[in-house]
Amino acid sequence: MVRTRFAPSPTGYLHLGGARTALFSWAFARRHKGTFVLRIEDTDLERSTPENTQVILDAMKWLGLDYDEGPFYQTKRMDRYKEVIDQLLAEGKAYYCYASKEELDAMREEQMAKGEKPRYDRRWRDSTATPPTGVSPVVRFKNPLDGAVVIDDLVKGQIIVQNSELDDLIIARSDGSPTYNFCVVVDDWDMQITHVIRGDDHVNNTPRQINILKALGAPLPKYGHVPMILGHDGEKLSKRHGAVSVMQYEEDGYLPEALLNYLARLGWAKGDEEVFTMDQFTEWFNLEGISRSPSRFNPEKLNWINQQYLKQADSNRLSELVRPFLLRDECDPSHGPALPLVIDLLKERVNTIEELADAAVYFYRPLDAEPAVIEQHVGADILPVMQQVADRFEAIDWTREAIHDVMKAIVAEHGLKLPKVAMPLRVLVTGEPQTPSIDAVLALIGKDEVLTRLRRQLNALSAS
Ligand code: GLU
Repeated sequence: MVRTRFAPSPTGYLHLGGARTALFSWAFARRHKGTFVLRIEDTDLERSTPENTQVILDAMKWLGLDYDEGPFYQTKRMDRYKEVIDQLLAEGKAYYCYASKEELDAMREEQMAKGEKPRYDRRWRDSTATPPTGVSPVVRFKNPLDGAVVIDDLVKGQIIVQNSELDDLIIARSDGSPTYNFCVVVDDWDMQITHVIRGDDHVNNTPRQINILKALGAPLPKYGHVPMILGHDGEKLSKRHGAVSVMQYEEDGYLPEALLNYLARLGWAKGDEEVFTMDQFTEWFNLEGISRSPSRFNPEKLNWINQQYLKQADSNRLSELVRPFLLRDECDPSHGPALPLVIDLLKERVNTIEELADAAVYFYRPLDAEPAVIEQHVGADILPVMQQVADRFEAIDWTREAIHDVMKAIVAEHGLKLPKVAMPLRVLVTGEPQTPSIDAVLALIGKDEVLTRLRRQLNALSAS
């Protein structure tokens, strides 16, 4: 039975790299009808906050990465960690180390002076010396002295680390609190994790964790270390490359399924498949498909994928997502055309919900065109024609076809081309030089509102 986990530290928001790790762990569990566990690694008391935890939970929910067990909190498992530390001490697999900071500094300096790699020299490992009084010791793990740890990493291939390269890790600080690597080991063991899928920034921890698991007689999970996500310029992903916090993408108007689809394709591939559902993904996902080299974040591709999803999305659903953006823009969509109809007209043309909202504004309140746009499209010669259009509009039943017929007739009577009439009409009523088909737009805005806007603009222009 496959059991995977996502184990974020709530020391900041959930970023794209973390979300992708979560997605891969989740998909692997779903693919194998296994169990996906959420564990909050909140032992860094100074940097972990309840707010950050909440943001992680919100992001998981928004993305639809549902977990079967948890969230488990490491801070609630302290007694268990202490119990295992005591067990290791009792079995002689760990020991108290009383070396003071000064002593350790001196040791390090000496090693560096000799050109050696600085590391703890195990001075208390087999010591029979009487412990100094008044010193609270740390607990160190007795790492094997020889042999090697062989990791058949499911992404990176075989990794071999000599035990002589690893020193005796501190597993409890002098105040008794367990250290990060140790908590991870006990948790993966207790939670019976079979596959640890995580960022490759943890690959150096893995041989240490494996040694502790072995000392505990715990079964070893398989490991898959996923390479980083870099910015488009190959640098570490940061604010410069756009939003890095997952929830920022919600605020910027991305659909969760689009972000997931994008993340799924970031460093993983199945042939040429670009747009796929999460059902397909969980059917296809395999660790062999993960690239061994870092992937680059490409905001244009994310926009493209988001656009594909927006086109297909149900307009009623999009209405609910667009509404808050419109309200922020001082636009109340409860007065004016039905928002889903407006969205039907616009959703093929935008990358994000935010753009969708921007494009919808003129349906609910008039916008003033840029003077340059007026100058380009609304010459003095066309004003009388526009007056005529307005007069004919008064008389018709307000349908898209009837609007179109008026424009066609006027064009024919004046020997003009259609854009000569459509463009000034568009600019005067919507304020924008680009909109969907103008007859459809006008039909939705409504007769009274179109005529009010048109007459007001014409009056202003003929007065000037
Ligand atoms: N808590 C670690 C992090 O957020 C992940 C540890 C793990 O997956 O083993 O980077």
